[in-house]
Amino acid sequence: MTVETKKIVEVDLKLCERQGVCIGIAPSVFQFGKDGQLEILEAEPPEDMWDAIEDAAAACPLNAITLRSK
Ligand code: SF4
Repeated sequence: MTVETKKIVEVDLKLCERQGVCIGIAPSVFQFGKDGQLEILEAEPPEDMWDAIEDAAAACPLNAITLRSK
């Protein structure tokens, strides 16, 4: 039996300064919305995106990105 693990990606918008580093690393997960705020396109990303999100979280200069188990 396989245990399905889910993870949730969160961004603390109070910290985010909209520099877009995360978008450069994981554009299928992070985008700027019409209002200029960062949007998360995949709040529960599939496992094959986790590495890119971890990379984006590590690269975020404000430490605003969290990927946590659900
Ligand atoms: S890298 Fe961090 S500060 Fe920059 S847009 Fe993404 S979440 Fe915001």
